[in-house]
Amino acid sequence: MVRVLLRFPEKIVNQPIIAQVLLQHRITLNIIAAHVDFHGGNVLIEVPKEHVEKAVNAFKERGVFVSFPKLIEVDKDRCLNCGACYSLCPVGAISIGEDYSISFDKEKCIGSPCGLCVDACPARVIKLTKELNLSVLSDEERGSN
Ligand code: SF4
Ligand code: SF4
Repeated sequence: MVRVLLRFPEKIVNQPIIAQVLLQHRITLNIIAAHVDFHGGNVLIEVPKEHVEKAVNAFKERGVFVSFPKLIEVDKDRCLNCGACYSLCPVGAISIGEDYSISFDKEKCIGSPCGLCVDACPARVIKLTKELNLSVLSDEERGSN
């Protein structure tokens, strides 16, 4: 599965675009996180690799801005197990074990739309990295900047 960030500008936010794409293109997807109001919003989805190009093109045709979020990478060897990242995670992707060691659940993490733990880590052992370099997006859309 590939994570894709959809940004809905205000002028199209009231349209049932995700439902249209699902039905018209027979694409399966999971919604991982969504923050949408009348002014627009972001929806993070997960799409099977073989459907990515079709999904990206279908959303772009409907005026949605598409990018691939960066995902976290943690250098566990350098982690201080200080816990500074733990309470900040909005999706419960960080846990503390019985031995007080910190673990990250990358399936739950929403990556660069959040990034709170990256900035909070005093040891700087968490970084955001690009997931894929897919040809369906420009450099800007891939989130490379
Ligand atoms: S980037 Fe955000 S969602 Fe992911 S582990 Fe860090 S705090 Fe949690
Ligand atoms: S903030 Fe950094 S050093 Fe502290 S527990 Fe989290 S990953 Fe480890």
